[in-house]
Amino acid sequence: MPVLSAFVNEPYSDFSKPHVWSAAEAALRTVRAEFDREYPLWIAGTAHRTGDISASANPSYPDEVVGRPHKATAELAALAIEDAYAYFPEWRHTSPQYRADLLIRVAAILRERKLEFDAWLVVEAGKTWPEAEAEIAEAIDFCEYYAREMLRLADPPPLVQLPGEHDEMVYLPLGAGVIIPPWNFPLAILAGMTVAALVAGNTVVIKPSSETPVIAHKFAEILREAGFPPRSFSLCVGSGSVVGDVLVEHVKTRFISFTGSRDVGLRINELAAKHRAGQIWIKRVIAEMGGKDAIVVDREADLESAVAGVTQSAFGYSGQKCSACSRAIVDEAVYDSFLEMLRARVERITVGPAHDRANFMGPVISASAKKTITQYVEVGKGEARMLVGENKATDGTYFVPPTVFADVASTARIFQEEIFGPVLAVTKARDFEHAIELANATVYGLTGAVYTRNPVKISRAKQDFFVGNLYINRKCTGAMVGAHPFGGFNMSGTDSKAGGPDYLLQFLQAKAIGEKR
Ligand code: NAP
Repeated sequence: MPVLSAFVNEPYSDFSKPHVWSAAEAALRTVRAEFDREYPLWIAGTAHRTGDISASANPSYPDEVVGRPHKATAELAALAIEDAYAYFPEWRHTSPQYRADLLIRVAAILRERKLEFDAWLVVEAGKTWPEAEAEIAEAIDFCEYYAREMLRLADPPPLVQLPGEHDEMVYLPLGAGVIIPPWNFPLAILAGMTVAALVAGNTVVIKPSSETPVIAHKFAEILREAGFPPRSFSLCVGSGSVVGDVLVEHVKTRFISFTGSRDVGLRINELAAKHRAGQIWIKRVIAEMGGKDAIVVDREADLESAVAGVTQSAFGYSGQKCSACSRAIVDEAVYDSFLEMLRARVERITVGPAHDRANFMGPVISASAKKTITQYVEVGKGEARMLVGENKATDGTYFVPPTVFADVASTARIFQEEIFGPVLAVTKARDFEHAIELANATVYGLTGAVYTRNPVKISRAKQDFFVGNLYINRKCTGAMVGAHPFGGFNMSGTDSKAGGPDYLLQFLQAKAIGEKR
């Protein structure tokens, strides 16, 4: 394969063009024709059918079954990790160039089938078309970016050379790892964590979210089509409680790459830390977790643009992003105007089935997500003033209207706890200093944004707003591979910086060699 050109982000399909839109509708029809299909597990290089079958639903129409994946037993989960361990010596000896080429092929296939994958994200994850398109572009970017990164790491810069010696440092893969993604980026995060581990020379067992197993199967089909050897990865569908602990606790598991909620991440970290008989390493845990992300709106901000950024960040994908703005912290000098402008904008948000272009917000992922969010709305009613929110009955659906609470105290639960839905808390700050103090007043530290025209305040935010991803005068969602390496501080995780130059190091160990000559 020729030398790779410099990395550039994948462009988005333009859904305003009639021919793109009709191709998207055709892709949706193709995907619908596959509904209800069974998907066997892919473990240790072969398909397995357990007969224990789950039904993955379309959150826009919960009675529709998108697909029926077989679920693994604890024994199959153990087999998956044992086989990944057994196959690792062969896989680790493949060349970085060969593995990078495979990633480029995966990217090419995804690019070719973009609209089809968009359609799967629409029907299984409840994403609107633009949200789906951004996700598939990110998945392609991860493949293209990590392929280049592996080639860079395979040829590291020279060390200091002692007289009479050749001194070098090389990067080795870790071993067999477990990949545990969430449902909210069921393609991009799953693909990113998986291909990063594979291109570094590790074998993996992927345990997808129980909410989005069909998209995981579609991605596994692409890995096979691109030429990944059958035993280089397993797809172990099953609930976290049945197969998760088995995979995390197994003595042959070398690392766990997890993205999900704080509580599950902390549990995995704790289980992985316990040494078990026969285990010869400290397991490495990469854990990217939740957020309670804030946008600070200063008195010197462009209010129009701040309101647009807050609305987009809070309600895009119904607020179901780790980077979603769930708190707006607004200087008292512009507080009332901000609220009025925000109310007008949020009231115009359209909610309904994700495939319908007329809707800005689709459903939330499940009945239990809807229940949790609705409970938080009730909590909010007791803690603050509801500015926008409806009491329209949406029984039997997973639609939740956008909700905004004003005058929220920093001690309120809706200010402190991750809700993971379309609920925004707005809090008044005395001044910029106070706003930054409030922004930092939770256990999380994932994304944040500041709207101000004042350069002194911008420098202050760069120094003191304690988040892994800070944005100035733009929304706090939509990190781009290469430009915004992604990962959070404190209870938001291990700050792994996905899509950045440090990311692959987490799947590698460095070996220094001094050779007397
Ligand atoms: P979750 O409930 O923590 O689940 C995440 C994954 O962990 C799923 O695959 C889940 O499988 C699995 N799991 C559950 N229990 C497990 C166990 N005991 N052992 C091993 N795996 C287990 O999170 P989610 O609801 O899918 O995702 C939403 C959360 O992810 C939010 O908190 C969000 O902020 C966070 N998130 C963070 C980032 C980031 O980069 N920081 C990005 C996206 C999302 P089952 O589905 O089978 O339970």
